Amino acid sequence: MRFPRFLRTARAFALAASVPVVVTTLPGDVPCCELSYRVTPDPEAGDVEVALEIHGFRGDTLVLTRPSARPLVGLIGRDPEVEGVRRSRWGLRDGQPQWSFSRPAEGWEDPIRVRYRLSITSRRPLNAWSVGLDRDLLYAPSEALFLLPAMPELAARNAAVRVRWELPRGWRSFTGWSGDAFHGTRQLLKTNILAGDIEHREASACGLEIDIAVYGEWTFDPATIAGDLARLACVARARLGPPRADRYAVTLVPARFPMTSGNRNGPNAIGFVHLLPDGSPPPTRLLAHEIVHQWQRFDAAMWFQEGVNDYMGLRLANEAGLIGDERMAQILGGIDSVYRAHPRRDNWSFADEEREAQPFGPSDEYLGYRKGALVGLALDRELRLRTGGEIDLATLWREMNKRTAWGHVRWSDAEISSRAAALAGGSLDRFFAHYVDGTGTLAAPERLLANLPPAPTSPARPRGLGAVAAFLEFGAPRLSP
Ligand SMILES: [Zn+2]
Repeated sequence: MRFPRFLRTARAFALAASVPVVVTTLPGDVPCCELSYRVTPDPEAGDVEVALEIHGFRGDTLVLTRPSARPLVGLIGRDPEVEGVRRSRWGLRDGQPQWSFSRPAEGWEDPIRVRYRLSITSRRPLNAWSVGLDRDLLYAPSEALFLLPAMPELAARNAAVRVRWELPRGWRSFTGWSGDAFHGTRQLLKTNILAGDIEHREASACGLEIDIAVYGEWTFDPATIAGDLARLACVARARLGPPRADRYAVTLVPARFPMTSGNRNGPNAIGFVHLLPDGSPPPTRLLAHEIVHQWQRFDAAMWFQEGVNDYMGLRLANEAGLIGDERMAQILGGIDSVYRAHPRRDNWSFADEEREAQPFGPSDEYLGYRKGALVGLALDRELRLRTGGEIDLATLWREMNKRTAWGHVRWSDAEISSRAAALAGGSLDRFFAHYVDGTGTLAAPERLLANLPPAPTSPARPRGLGAVAAFLEFGAPRLSP
C-alpha cells in the first residue's frame, strides 16, 4: 500500500514518537526507514531463509548491500528478490556485494518485501569469521548475513534506524542496543545471532554490566573471562572515560578448527570465536583488544583504529594486572619482529597499504595492525616525555571520543596529529611525517618502554586501580531456557 506524501510524513512522526531515543535526529531527507527481518533456519539443509521488510523507503533506486567485503568461505546466498520488482543488477562496490533495484513505474510498495537465502555449508572449515549453522546455532557477525539498504546519508549522520527481528524460538540477537534502534548503516547490522543452550554469566564492574553468553563445552572456566573482562572494563573506564553504554553482551562460541578471533558487534556487543587445541582460553590480548574497541567512539584509519587500539589494549591489560611488565614487553617484542619482517616496511606508508594491500588477511600481514601498535607506544611515549607525564595517549583518546557528542566521528591523521600537538604543547608534524605518513623505522619496544614517565593519575580513579577488585561482582551461572 502506498501512502500520499503527507500521510507518510505523518507516519514518520508517529514512528518517531514511539521511539523515545534519538529518532528525532533522523533528517527528513533520508530515504529510509524501518526494517524488519524474519529469520527461518533449516538446519538439515544448512539454509537460512531471510525475509526483510523495508518500511518508508522513498528513493529512486533501492540498493541492498552486504556491508562487508570479507569473502566468506562456505556461505552461498541466493540473490535477493524484491516482490513485484524487476530483477536486480548485481555488482561490487569497494568489494561489497550489492544489488540495485529501480523504482517500478507505479512506485514502491510500502513495505517493500525482500527475500533471500543463505546456504551455509558445513563440509569444509569456515573462515575465521566462523559463519556456522549447527543443529541449533547460527553464529556470525551479521554484517555477513543480513542485507541492508545502502543509505550513505544515514551512515554519515549516524542517525537512528529502527530494526525488528523475528527470530525462531530460543534464538537471541546480541546487539546490546536498546529499543532495537541502530545508528547509521555502517553499524546497522553488527549483531550476532545465537541460539541453543547458552550459559549466561553476569559480571558487574565499576558501574558496567557484562552479560557473558557461553555456548559449547570448554576445558577452562568461562568465569575467568568474565573476571578479566570486568577488570579490563574498569581500567578502560578509568583511562578512556565513560563508556558509550553501561551494558555489554559478550558471546563465546567454539570455532570449528584451531583459531581464535574477536569481533566487535556494535557499541555494546563483543563476540569471541575460539578453539585452541590445548584448551586455553582466548588470550588476554584479544579480550583487551575487543574491550578497547568498545571505547572507540571515533572512526580513524586502520593504523589507529586497530594498531593503536592493540597497544592500548596491552597497556590497559597491564594496568589491570592481567599481564606483567615482562609479558607486555615480550608481546610488544613479538609485534615488533612481525613489523620488522614485513616485506613492505620500507616502502608502504599506512595510506599506501590501505590502497594497495589485499583486504581481509590475517592481521600479521598488515603494517596498520603491527606497526600501528608500535606507533601507539611511540606516541604514548612522545606525549608523556613532552609533558612530564601530564598527558598520555589515553588523554588523546578521551579527546577524540568527546567529539562524537557533536556527531563528528571521523578523525583524519592530520586531525589526530594536530589534537596531539595541542595537548603536547608543540608540533607533532615530524613524528607523523616520519612514522604515519612515512616509512621511518621505529625504535625497538624495549627502547620505547625504557624510562617512560608514569601515566598521569586519572581523575576517574582516585583510589588507584588496586581498588578494581573491590568493584567486581559475579552472578551465578545460569542456563537459558
Ligand atoms: Zn580490532
